[in-house]
Amino acid sequence: MLFYIRCALFLLIALAAPLRAEETTLESAPSQSWSKYVESELKKIESKRYRHPALVNVPSLEALYKVLPRDKLEVEIGTESPRHQEIWQGLRKLSKEPLNRYLTSFAIYHRQDSAKTKDDPMAFVTETSPHMFGMAIDLGYAKSEAQLLIALLHEYGHVLFPVPFEMLQLIAACESDDVPFTKPFVVNFFKKYWADCYGPAMEMNEFTHATPHARINIGEDLAETWTSFILCGRPREEDRRIIADKRRMMWHDADLVSRRALIYRRLGTRYIVEMRSPAWYYCL
Ligand SMILES: [Zn+2]
Repeated sequence: MLFYIRCALFLLIALAAPLRAEETTLESAPSQSWSKYVESELKKIESKRYRHPALVNVPSLEALYKVLPRDKLEVEIGTESPRHQEIWQGLRKLSKEPLNRYLTSFAIYHRQDSAKTKDDPMAFVTETSPHMFGMAIDLGYAKSEAQLLIALLHEYGHVLFPVPFEMLQLIAACESDDVPFTKPFVVNFFKKYWADCYGPAMEMNEFTHATPHARINIGEDLAETWTSFILCGRPREEDRRIIADKRRMMWHDADLVSRRALIYRRLGTRYIVEMRSPAWYYCL
């Protein structure tokens, strides 16, 4: 599904790496248990952790676009298609600002199903210049429109919550001093959940992270918490789990709440509620 490695793509893109829902009931959750789900996800994560999406066969690239003012796309490599435009317009619905404020390039590739590529990411972003990103989507993995949209939500989460490399280094070194400058929300999230490497960040279960993928690093935690914040309802105040706390942190941020409302208006509440079913694990 959504995967960890942010990476460099092809030419210009440089290398880098739900609360108890109001409406959701767990009746829609499959019989698969959280622990089994975690186990299978972690296996996948381990197997792809050091893989580099740039190893993707270039022939699988359908098109690499440059993002122009007013969110126009200009094809640089490959062939443009109405389907790409459709996906791009879907991504635009997730953003309050024009996407060209965040994105310099947008790539669509389509790897054919094969055992070799199974663990590669479905989508990723990579920083192309300070605070600017390239985004790539692999259509070979999107089995449904809902899955594709969840992938877009996750990747958009990466651009909305930029995590400086220095922050990852601090976490790796179990240090919390000299927090590098980035968005205040990211800094607060870091201080609360990731500054103490022996703290909650190192645990991982349905009480701490939205998904197993969120455990990989603070960037993935933010992207997955954001995805669950959009997909799912507001956590009850009496829900004392860390994951509920993380989502409440987003609910306490007026800007994020308005972004969520905008996405609901644009996509339609009914559509988002339907998306929860295949994404049941986000809303536990
Ligand atoms: Zn990610």
